[in-house]
Amino acid sequence: MSLRPVVFLDRDGTMNDDVGYLSALSHLTLYPWAIDAVRLLNHAGYAVVVVTNQGGIGRKMIAPEFVGELHAEIARRLAAGGAHVDGWYYCPHHPEALIDELRVDCDCRKPKPGMALDAARDLGLDLARSWVIGDKWLDVQLAQRIGGRGVLVRTGWGRLEEAIRPDGQVVDAICDSLAGAVAHVLTADASDAR
Ligand SMILES: [Mg+2]
Ligand SMILES: [Zn+2]
Repeated sequence: MSLRPVVFLDRDGTMNDDVGYLSALSHLTLYPWAIDAVRLLNHAGYAVVVVTNQGGIGRKMIAPEFVGELHAEIARRLAAGGAHVDGWYYCPHHPEALIDELRVDCDCRKPKPGMALDAARDLGLDLARSWVIGDKWLDVQLAQRIGGRGVLVRTGWGRLEEAIRPDGQVVDAICDSLAGAVAHVLTADASDAR
């Protein structure tokens, strides 16, 4: 079986409004372009995998069972628009977690690569042909750790992040939104293939 190219998507601030700790379905607002953007990636043959830090679980601000409910709701809305996510991964850990088991220096909290490595093993992904799209530098840094390319979006925290770009931080592109980032991915890969 050949390995699939993949686009890893951050969730909060990239697919949906970042409302701080998203802990109720009523607070979920997908960006208006999110469904179309994911569907474009689906049709172009990319695996689409969500990787999200949910340290609010360890901090007792988000119920652990809520994450699955929320992802099911996002999946329903995507499906209504003909789009789908191939894998959902979250990190519940936090260095200041109130729950002892979750107050660990884990391998999955972005920019650490644990979630992407798990997804690559679970789904047969080609990390050398991977992208990470997110609204924080830690998303872009995840791309660097796994040998992929990173795109920063200006939604969510992105505009603030852009203003505090770390010295020497590389990034493949900075785009206004997930829609622009997906357009960048598709055109960059198409021109590489020529
Ligand atoms: Mg984010
Ligand atoms: Zn973790």
